[in-house]
Amino acid sequence: MGLNVIMMGPPGAGKGTQADRFARERGLPKISTGDMLREGIKDQNPVALEAQKLMDRGELVDDSTIIAIVRDRLGRADTRRGFVLDGFPRTVGQAVALDRLMEERAEGPLVVIDVSVPEQELVRRLGSRKICGSCGTNAEAGKPACGKCGGALVVRADDDGQVVLERLKIYERATRPVLDYYRTRTTFRVVNGAQALEQVARDVDRMIDDAAASVGGGAAGRRPGERRMSAGAAE
Ligand code: AMP
Repeated sequence: MGLNVIMMGPPGAGKGTQADRFARERGLPKISTGDMLREGIKDQNPVALEAQKLMDRGELVDDSTIIAIVRDRLGRADTRRGFVLDGFPRTVGQAVALDRLMEERAEGPLVVIDVSVPEQELVRRLGSRKICGSCGTNAEAGKPACGKCGGALVVRADDDGQVVLERLKIYERATRPVLDYYRTRTTFRVVNGAQALEQVARDVDRMIDDAAASVGGGAAGRRPGERRMSAGAAE
């Protein structure tokens, strides 16, 4: 059975970093709608270029465009054992569309992780965040160049001053209701994203395994010989 994960959280919460790591460790594809749009812009894809205007202002791209991109991506064979979604769904409409897709797929549970960080800390983090100008990977703290391709680090266009505040506002308005949409499910978990990175990682792993196990799924995402962790501290 597959292990399907949604990594939720406001901009700057570290959900991309956790999604990257978890996906790599479990051998699952990480699907980031933001990365796909940025790749599309680089390739001069007309849909992505149209979306760029909204992205540069920190606004959301319309549901139908984003849902079509995700439907297409989830149709690829590498998602059969599961996937880690980063940056999707960002609206209740997208969450409803994803539920329909999941019904069609009938491949394992959908685990929802909310990486929660206080707003003050988010603004501080976003003010100093850099990405690689060549491949778009998030820069690691203290590194002078991209750890993946050696490219020069740049500030993301939508991490600048006013745009950051706009993105946080839009998160509150459009995306926080998505958490309420998922909150009552047995596979919904909240992780304290203000902790040290390693602790966030441990909590994310434990909560995903626990949530998947609670509905009898998730084994396909675990490496052979790996121990199933028991449910631990309160969330
Ligand atoms: P991200 O890298 O996830 O922060 O996404 C960067 C930008 O891409 C966002 O600020 C939006 O403009 C756009 N975007 C990415 N994912 C979505 C989505 N699920 N719904 C709407 N817009 C999105």
